[in-house]
Amino acid sequence: MPSFVINEKCDGCKAQDRTACQYICPNDLMVLDKEKNKAYNRAVDMCWECYSCVKICPTQAIEVRGYADFMPLGGVVQPLRSTDSIMWAVKFRNKKVKRFKFPIRTTPEGTIVPDAGFETGSDDLKSPILRTEPDSL
Ligand code: SF4
Ligand code: SF4
Repeated sequence: MPSFVINEKCDGCKAQDRTACQYICPNDLMVLDKEKNKAYNRAVDMCWECYSCVKICPTQAIEVRGYADFMPLGGVVQPLRSTDSIMWAVKFRNKKVKRFKFPIRTTPEGTIVPDAGFETGSDDLKSPILRTEPDSL
């Protein structure tokens, strides 16, 4: 099931120009209703349930139904990020809650170097070699 926004929790990222969910969605699906100051998924059939918006939302306002391989039908899952870990809270139908905490790789926003620093690749689109080759080999 695609992502959906719980209106009561969404604060529109405090009216910033671009909300966190808009910034992160690889399919550019999340939009902000500026009148209501609430975000929504504008093309649910295009959502591949990647969880990126769920993980980045600062108010835990977005949900995606958990995959069947890690949670039972009818449950709810909500991830909560911190600087060095991510906690997945799974709430079962009988109200039982289980939490799983994992370390994360942290790469601060804006610090990734395009092409991993290799600048000598070919700009020829018909070339059979990759952009960073041969230096990256
Ligand atoms: S990231 Fe969360 S709080 Fe911000 S606009 Fe999207 S749903 Fe609302
Ligand atoms: S789950 Fe992924 S693809 Fe779907 S709206 Fe969120 S960020 Fe976009």
